Amino acid sequence: MKSPIEESWFIRAMIKATTDMWLKGWDERNGGNVSLRLLAEDIAPFRSSLTEDRTVAIGETVAELAGQYFLVTGSGKYFRNVQLDPEENLGLIEVTADGASARILWGFKGKAVPTSELSAHLKSHRSRQAVTQGASRVIMHCHATNLIALSYVLDLSAAALTRALWEMSTECLVVFPDGIGVLPWMVPGTATIGEATAIEMQKHPLVLWPFHGVFGSGATLDEAFGLIDTAEKAAEVLVKVLSMGGKKQSIATQELKDLAARFQVKPMPEALATEKWIS
Ligand code: 13P
Ligand code: ZN
Repeated sequence: MKSPIEESWFIRAMIKATTDMWLKGWDERNGGNVSLRLLAEDIAPFRSSLTEDRTVAIGETVAELAGQYFLVTGSGKYFRNVQLDPEENLGLIEVTADGASARILWGFKGKAVPTSELSAHLKSHRSRQAVTQGASRVIMHCHATNLIALSYVLDLSAAALTRALWEMSTECLVVFPDGIGVLPWMVPGTATIGEATAIEMQKHPLVLWPFHGVFGSGATLDEAFGLIDTAEKAAEVLVKVLSMGGKKQSIATQELKDLAARFQVKPMPEALATEKWIS
């Protein structure tokens, strides 16, 4: 028998997102993690299903997020199993008043803990909340195959990667006018990579971790998923273009400007100025 909270919009939406991500091939084994910020009114109907008997240290302090609720995937948990047992693979946390710990209110059955990338998630939430006036609610990390592949052959600069993706599909500039940020290779699951990701998230809704995966953000799970899906699709086109010997023609700078004018977006200037993105 499902508990009432498992019928909530947010558990159902998280099951849908993680299952779709698994089916996309972005989340082998325990690859990837997702966090969805919930509001007090989202969880109010389920108060009677919540407990407060376990707290885990975040490992650093995110004072700005004190009192916020997040539905988070568990560390070491497989996305393909979320639909089978949400209570084991997901957890609902509340950031404590001092911003240093996460109180587990539901889920993470059997001593499970939040994702090892909690630092990157929480600090990226802080960044995206600030730049979207509080609208951003989702941080999503996955191992999108073609974006990873491109990190071996393209220059690892935000301008070059953004311009390359914009040229591979007409919708890209409209979907992510602020482009994709990129980090140097770093050890995952650390406060250092979390901090670096969050800094990039102040400028971009997407951040590439070379040879590892990508972080995306959005107001909803659909939006974060759609953003990664769009970038990953463009990356797949580019992999095919490069495999066929490289581009012979492409979308020109003036055409990108025309797109921006039609859809009223302000494209990242450095990417617009970068015409040569592959050597
Ligand atoms: P978790 O299982 O701890 O979420 O880690 C998966 C991952 O993708 C690390 O980058
Ligand atoms: Zn990862």
